[in-house]
Amino acid sequence: MQKLSEHFLELIRRASTILPEDVRKAMEDAAVREGKSSSAGSTLLKMLENATEAEKTSTPICQDTGTLVFYVHYGPEYRQKAIQDAILEATADATARYYLRPNAVDPVTGKNSGNNIGNGLPYIHFDQGEKPGLSIRLMLKGGGSENVGAQYKLPDSNLGAGRDLEGVRRCAIDAVFQAQGKGCGPGTIGLGIGGDRGTAFLESKEQLFRALDDRNPDSLLAELEDRLYRELNELGIGPMGFGGKTTVLGVKIGTRHRLPACYFVSVSYICWAYRRASMILKEGKVSYD
Ligand code: SF4
Repeated sequence: MQKLSEHFLELIRRASTILPEDVRKAMEDAAVREGKSSSAGSTLLKMLENATEAEKTSTPICQDTGTLVFYVHYGPEYRQKAIQDAILEATADATARYYLRPNAVDPVTGKNSGNNIGNGLPYIHFDQGEKPGLSIRLMLKGGGSENVGAQYKLPDSNLGAGRDLEGVRRCAIDAVFQAQGKGCGPGTIGLGIGGDRGTAFLESKEQLFRALDDRNPDSLLAELEDRLYRELNELGIGPMGFGGKTTVLGVKIGTRHRLPACYFVSVSYICWAYRRASMILKEGKVSYD
């Protein structure tokens, strides 16, 4: 039986080098809409060409392989510590094999750990279930797109944003407008409404694990996702800020119950190099997606 760390290494390789199918399809459709002679269309086609080459050669889609964000769901036959150790081993191995760039820098000394392992890195969220098996979702979130994320505290008089979904809508439009060409668009927007400052951001990032073509089970949020997708693409910012009809590929919204005194809206933005992969290990058999 293969070691857990070997499965995780393959998961990281896939996340770093293979653009997920739904993202590729959304970019291909956008390229057709924009037309290949336009700046937007040719930029999207170049990105897709780059992604194809990366997959063929098993090299990273982008030089910034980002922060590793793991969500682990495990059954009673697993020990959390063993999974964590295997993730760390695979992360160091993936860095040595150049699937990952060394991206863990000590904020005090400025020293790079050299293997993507550091305080709080990689980020691993564990969740134990009662059924046997192990499933892991991994996202690689680039630094440029992380820089354009934002958090709002409502009400916000500058935006005319109150504590309601209209206020949330105004925050999302403002965040994408402020990003203007930074963060390597077209982006996908994860919104976390409520919670506290920390959990609102967690929620917004978790939303980015959803497939682009899924449907929010909450009809009010689904409606807002559709509306924002339309309105953000009417801003005209376009891929890499070159103008066009494709500013975002998707908008995903989740909520957490909040304190009566607080109303946070967190916006996580992920770039076109929207790298995520997942694996399931059950009865000794592994499958990747
Ligand atoms: S924002 Fe994304 S595409 Fe741009 S450099 Fe960072 S990881 Fe790469």
